[in-house]
Amino acid sequence: MPRRAPERRLLRSGPITQRECTRCGACCCNARSNAAEGFFHWVEIAEREPILADERLRERLVTFDDAGVAHLRLDPDGRCLALRGRLGRRVECTIYDLRPRACRRVEAGSDECLRARADRGIA
Ligand code: SF4
Ligand code: SF4
Repeated sequence: MPRRAPERRLLRSGPITQRECTRCGACCCNARSNAAEGFFHWVEIAEREPILADERLRERLVTFDDAGVAHLRLDPDGRCLALRGRLGRRVECTIYDLRPRACRRVEAGSDECLRARADRGIA
């Protein structure tokens, strides 16, 4: 998932690597198929993750589902509120060092990554 990128757009060639994340951000968004099925929570936050210990971040970025499980809060388009920038162009995770473990598990170029990119129309 994204860290930070220079303001430029490059044509990609070859496999998707982590470097591509700063120009993507797709997996930081709820999949449209997920939303279509009525699921509006995306990235789960496990108990005792650092973000939950930070009151300011917790209030701004965390929401809880009906079962009381913490998730990252999303905007109406399904984007994580911690994501800054334009999808497919230049993005940045504003809480990179405190992002939940679930964010760290997505591997660039994996099936999950490719599905997320296709979902947001990013080649
Ligand atoms: S969808 Fe893939 S390329 Fe895009 S930010 Fe996530 S891991 Fe990186
Ligand atoms: S916390 Fe950062 S890496 Fe995780 S979904 Fe939000 S913007 Fe993406």
